[in-house]
Order: sequence, then structure tokens, then C-alpha cells
Amino acid sequence: MSAKILNGKEVSERIKTELKDKVSELKKIGIFPGLAVVLVGNDPASRVYVNSKKRACEFIGIESFEYALPEETTEKQLLELVAELNADKKVNGILVQLPLPEQINEENIINTINPLKDVDAFHPFNVGRIMTGNPVFLPCTPAGVMELVHESGIDVKGKECVVAGRSNIVGKPQAMLLLAEHGTVTICHSRTVNLEEVCKRADILVAAVGKPEFIKGSMIKPGAVVIDVGINRINGKIVGDVEFASASEVASAITPVPGGVGPMTIAMLMKNTVKAAELYYSRA
Ligand code: NAD
Repeated sequence: MSAKILNGKEVSERIKTELKDKVSELKKIGIFPGLAVVLVGNDPASRVYVNSKKRACEFIGIESFEYALPEETTEKQLLELVAELNADKKVNGILVQLPLPEQINEENIINTINPLKDVDAFHPFNVGRIMTGNPVFLPCTPAGVMELVHESGIDVKGKECVVAGRSNIVGKPQAMLLLAEHGTVTICHSRTVNLEEVCKRADILVAAVGKPEFIKGSMIKPGAVVIDVGINRINGKIVGDVEFASASEVASAITPVPGGVGPMTIAMLMKNTVKAAELYYSRA
């Protein structure tokens, strides 16, 4: 079997084009979405992500405000900037690029962002809303994964869904979104016994472990939909958490890396920013 490729680049372009049309309509009624992107330090991968987010804003017509702060920025300074952005009417969404330098407590920063500007959906208010099935913003990467699952044509309802990885930004919220669509969800992690056996049960397998080519074809049920969230840099090349060559022989549909979940995450961030602007103006 050779799997259908779930082309995240193509799907994300479609979503961004729809958003572009929507933003031009919103501007006619005086709604001008704006996103503040805060980068602290010199992490090269973070710089790449921030640049992609800025380019997406430009394409869609979202105003982006970039704050590039030095590595030695203190937590107090960053908290002050977040407070300013919370109060700034032109800023509808605030994104603080993670990871932050070690002198800054990420949780303190996330907890300070106004939940209605928290377009990453990391604030406990938004996490709670996701958990109770009534989200304000969908978490970007998991929401991007769901779009690609839909693209595969599979109905999540009643399916065995396995999420490998339990991080707060991917694994846990991913499980909630699959559950919201009535999947039977199992979350695996580094202490899971017989990971291979559990993965092999999956009709839908989401890999978010952060280990290059960790999930092999032999761990996949024939015909499963496989979504690879992983981004691992190996000798200048980007590979996922799934061994694509062996997995694509077994799966019915699979995402490539790059060009799968990555661009979808950015499209979902843009969607959340437009939603944040609409929410702001509906309350103004
Ligand atoms: P993380 O390191 O926070 O979490 C990794 C998870 O994998 C942990 O919960 C851990 O328990 C689990 N794990 C580790 N070893 C395991 C093992 N042997 N068996 C089973 N589970 C194991 O990582 P994260 O932030 O969730 O990111 C995961 C991957 O996704 C990374 O490669 C990251 O770069 C990528 N990522 C991609 C996007 C995107 O937009 N495509 C967004 C976020 C993260």
C-alpha cells in the first residue's frame, strides 16, 4: 500500500487564502486584526518560526508587531511588555515565542497574557475551556492536526486514536480535540509499557515525541491515518517523529515532514488572531 500524502502546505494555503478574504471584509467594517510576536534571545529555530508567522500575517493582511528582545531580558521586563500589549488596542493577539531563556519562568509569562489575546491557547483559562469542550481558541498545532485528519476523509467518531506524547502544547490538547470528535483516545508517553502494541491499535496515530523517526512502519496498523508532528533537525535536514519510508507503506494516509503539520500550525495561529480581533470588536 502506498499512503495518501496529507499535504499541509496546500491545505494551509487554502486556509490562509480564506482568511485573507475574510480580513479584507473585516477591514471594510473597521476591524483591523493585529498580532504581537515577541522573541527573546537568539534561538535560530525560533527566529525561523517568527519569520514564518510574520510572512503569514503579511499575506493575510494582519498587522504584525515584532518585539525582538535580547537574551539577557529579565522576567520583569518581559512581564512589563506583556502588560503593555494587553492594554494595546491595536494588538488582538499576543504570541511569546517559546522556549524562553532560563531566567524567565514561562508559566509566569503565559499566565499574564490576557486570555482573550492568548492566540496560542496556552493560558490556563483557555486550557480549561478546551478541556470542558467549549474553547475560545483552538490550540494551534492540535487544531492543525485535526484539519489534516479531516483531509484524510476519516471520521474520528468511534475510532481508536493514539497520541504519542503528553506535552501541554501538543499531546494533551491533541487528545482533547480527538475526544471532542468522539474518538476513543489513548495517550502514550515515555513510561508507556509496550508502546508498539498500543500504537498498533490506532486507526489514527499522532506522533509528538520529539525523537527522529521513532515510529516505524512495524508499529502502525495497516490502513491507519498517521500524523507526524515532530520537527527534528538532523545534520541540517528536518525529519519527523515517524519513519516516513516504512510508515507510508502501511498507512492509508500520512503527513510529510516538512510540509505537513508545521504550516498548519501557522495557519491556525492566523485563524485565532482573526477570531481574537472579531471578539475584541464584538465586545468594544
Ligand atoms: P516535548 O518534549 O515537550 O514532549 C515530548 C513527549 O514525548 C513527552 O510527553 C514524552 O513523555 C514523550 N516521549 C518521549 N520519549 C518517548 C518514548 N520513548 N515513548 C513514548 N513517548 C515518549 O515535545 P513537544 O513540545 O510535545 O513536541 C513534540 C515534537 O513536535 C517535537 O519534535 C517538536 O519539535 C514538534 N512540534 C512541532 C510543532 C509543529 O508545528 N509541527 C509544534 C510543536 C512541537
